[in-house]
Amino acid sequence: MKTIGIIGGGQLGLMIIEQAKILGAKTICLDPTADSPAFKISDEHIIAAFDDEQALEELCRRSDIVTYEFENVPGDLLKSLKEHIKQGVRPLLDSQDRAREKNNARENGLTPVNFIEVDDVNSLNEGVKKMGYPCIFKTRRLGYDGHGQVVLKSDADLEKAAAYLPTPAVLEEFIPFDFEASIVMVSDGEKIINFPIGQNIHTGGILDLCIVTEPSENTPVGTGLTPALTKKIETLGKEFMQKCGYKGILTIELFIKGDKIYFNEMAPRPHNSGHYTIEGCNTNQFMELCRFLLDMDLQEPKLVAPTIMKNILGQDLEVAKQIEKENHPNVHVHIYGKTESKPKRKMGHITFVGMNLEEYNQKWKHRFV
Ligand code: AMP
Repeated sequence: MKTIGIIGGGQLGLMIIEQAKILGAKTICLDPTADSPAFKISDEHIIAAFDDEQALEELCRRSDIVTYEFENVPGDLLKSLKEHIKQGVRPLLDSQDRAREKNNARENGLTPVNFIEVDDVNSLNEGVKKMGYPCIFKTRRLGYDGHGQVVLKSDADLEKAAAYLPTPAVLEEFIPFDFEASIVMVSDGEKIINFPIGQNIHTGGILDLCIVTEPSENTPVGTGLTPALTKKIETLGKEFMQKCGYKGILTIELFIKGDKIYFNEMAPRPHNSGHYTIEGCNTNQFMELCRFLLDMDLQEPKLVAPTIMKNILGQDLEVAKQIEKENHPNVHVHIYGKTESKPKRKMGHITFVGMNLEEYNQKWKHRFV
């Protein structure tokens, strides 16, 4: 029986472990927080900081293969552990810095949003002059769910961005996209599989809904995925993974405007927009990552029915628990078991299988904040 080591003990770790168990693997998880969600079901765990070199080495020693669910492990530390990390460390290093991430995307066939690097008040002011309003300021590192970001609409907003300086950042063109989409792929080095593409709605920089349906020829341009657009995204995504030589799991987040596909960012780990796959597909992102880690053949994902995933943040936790008690068919409530609930903190998600947006808006939307 192989042991999978996981750097990070959050909900992604928890859901990796659920699938690893089905495949008969053991798990050991490293996280600094003693009551991490994943510790509740991992076979073993190590409580240590993500920059604790000895603890990371111990994780590697006690595992047959190692993966990560947390993106900000210091890159230098990872380099010394690279032979243990099956996915390799390059995808993580490429995704940890927004400037490197965008340059890498461009060099490998994608179209990133236009950006300028800034690192002090002077370069910020110069950048804004070139870019014009509106634009978005983002710190190059450690940003997630809208953290480290400021939308700049006029000079009045400059101070909010300047508060982050001096720190390496990028200034991005604001894309008035039609919609956002993401594609989750898994590569074993030869075969690349992809999950059906989700259409994502963010609120306040955090994913709120992921909507997945079979692409239709009848979808009016700008409102959703047609078969042609779907094919284009799948081809671009797979070619990108191949050109980069990435293995393992990768999600690419995109902005769609007319027939243009802009690269926003990527994540070399299971992704929030892929949570719908647990019940919405015949196989899921966590399962396929585990198959990759365990040297098993990858399975081709298929959508079982139109599906909607609703993220449950702290403000919706009680409602989610109530919905769970109500026991609705094809409504799957996942509560991550985090001890502290806060507004805007991801506490769980609900997957509605066999549901389109219209029906969701009629039947369910009013239940959430
Ligand atoms: P990010 O953390 O970069 O994924 O940004 C969070 C969310 O902010 C995105 O999913 C978009 O909804 C929005 N956003 C980020 N960058 C841009 C942009 N350049 N243009 C328009 N919206 C953006």
